[in-house]
Amino acid sequence: MSEGAKREKDERPAKEVRQGGQERRQFRAIKGTRDILPPDTALWNWFEATAREVIEAYNFAEIRTPIFEETELFARAVGVETDVVNKEMYSFEVYESDELVERRYMVANWPWNFDQYDFFRQQIAPRFVETLKIAVDKGQIVRDAANLRIYEEIKTAMADLMDTGVQYGKNAFDRFQSAARALLIGESITLRPEATASVCRAYIEHGMQTRPGDQKLYYVGPMFRRERPQKGRYRQFYQIGAEVLGTSDAPAIDAELIEMLTVLIGRCKIEKWTLLINSIGCPDTPERKGCRPKYVELLRAELRKPEIFSKLGPDSQRRVETNPLRVMDSKLPEEQPVIEKLPKISEHLCAECREHYEKLKSELALRKVPFTESPRLVRGLDYYMRTTFEITSPVLGAQNALCGGGRYDGLVEMLGGPKGIKGIGFALGEDRFVDAIVEAKKIDATRAVDVFVAWMGEKAYPEAVRLARVLRDAGRAVELPAREMKFGKAFERADKIGARYVLILGDDEIASKRLTIKTLASGEQKQMGESELLDYVRH
Ligand code: AMP
Repeated sequence: MSEGAKREKDERPAKEVRQGGQERRQFRAIKGTRDILPPDTALWNWFEATAREVIEAYNFAEIRTPIFEETELFARAVGVETDVVNKEMYSFEVYESDELVERRYMVANWPWNFDQYDFFRQQIAPRFVETLKIAVDKGQIVRDAANLRIYEEIKTAMADLMDTGVQYGKNAFDRFQSAARALLIGESITLRPEATASVCRAYIEHGMQTRPGDQKLYYVGPMFRRERPQKGRYRQFYQIGAEVLGTSDAPAIDAELIEMLTVLIGRCKIEKWTLLINSIGCPDTPERKGCRPKYVELLRAELRKPEIFSKLGPDSQRRVETNPLRVMDSKLPEEQPVIEKLPKISEHLCAECREHYEKLKSELALRKVPFTESPRLVRGLDYYMRTTFEITSPVLGAQNALCGGGRYDGLVEMLGGPKGIKGIGFALGEDRFVDAIVEAKKIDATRAVDVFVAWMGEKAYPEAVRLARVLRDAGRAVELPAREMKFGKAFERADKIGARYVLILGDDEIASKRLTIKTLASGEQKQMGESELLDYVRH
């Protein structure tokens, strides 16, 4: 299907169909999401099993974290000035106290009315305030400064309502109502757009730093980002990722992680790929000034020069102030000549970062992992420092990144965890790996049906059920028709579903206690006893 046709299909609205005189709406998967059907699922499962095998061979263990977390976790970890947090998160409010929601609804929608003023101030308002107090005590409302101020305002307005008769009550009523409307009573949660923040949250929550050695964790699962859908870019997509958390930042850790990815790519027989690496320096810490902020200022000054600024698009122009580093990974063709001439971070690394980067390169060479240095690789998320990397493949088209990652030494501490814990990780896109595997045409993961049981007659049926069970217990994939089929039809069906053998059970077979097996590819038909069956239909 052409890209255009595909996009059109994705954007077609739900269909209305007529069924028995009635209009029925046919549902479709939500834009940017998709169903993965057999036989494609076989390849997905093969890939996941292979990835687990490779990753576990490097002694990583699986971690499973929830699919949603507090919004604040992603805002803090990933960074508010990133596209992911800024415009791509699926966030929603959840409420702990249904009663509070209902009482607030009443207060917020109560019309100002002379006759009902007393009823409001004696019945409706106090009940709301009472429920609110309980919710505050239980920690069920957002406890930031602004919200607590609103809570105080509600209490003051309540006292005024009690003291004021209807003649002068409008002012207190209005203040009470608008404060009640402004109060945030829910908690904002978000479908995870990535999993590193969740892994770090779990690491801290469970005090995993007290376990021996580095924590080498991997995860598998769906992520959610409201990006513009296109080939290779979905709103629900699947990642496999791995993180190493511990006290060491030895470049050998970075190199081993990258080596592991290249081994996985090798297993998938994807031949066309490029590993890009870079170092993006270090941030300021209370102990010392980092080299990145200095470089960022240099870059910003350069970008503000009118002859450069005027050649940038609106997105990049905004980033000059908010996040100049991100200008470096702009893909806009017209910005490329300007970006090529900007100062490169690799030329502004501090001595420690430079040494770390040099060691990373020699560690990669030791492991015979070919790499290309890419001074523009800054990565989209805020938490990265020093090592960043990405593996791209030209077979993927515009969305060409198979995987990416980097070092994030300050993240655990920033999320309230122990001091001095360093981290590095990557995430790979399963959707894209599967595309690249299909493109390479070297892996066939579909599993054929081994045996189709063609049975006819009342006596044959119990034997068919019994033999299907024997074969299945021995691990063969067996299709046993639930209803009797003429042999001709059974052969046709067996052929269509790609079965390798047909086990024929009719009156003759039952009478002679011999089984007839037909190999579909050759047409060869053979008689045998039950004891020979399993050996014959080996897969
Ligand atoms: P990131 O978390 O942005 O570093 O992404 C890591 C990897 O996940 C990328 O290299 C892609 O392979 C994959 N990926 C990221 N976003 C999407 C998306 N919207 N759809 C499909 N794959 C994605």
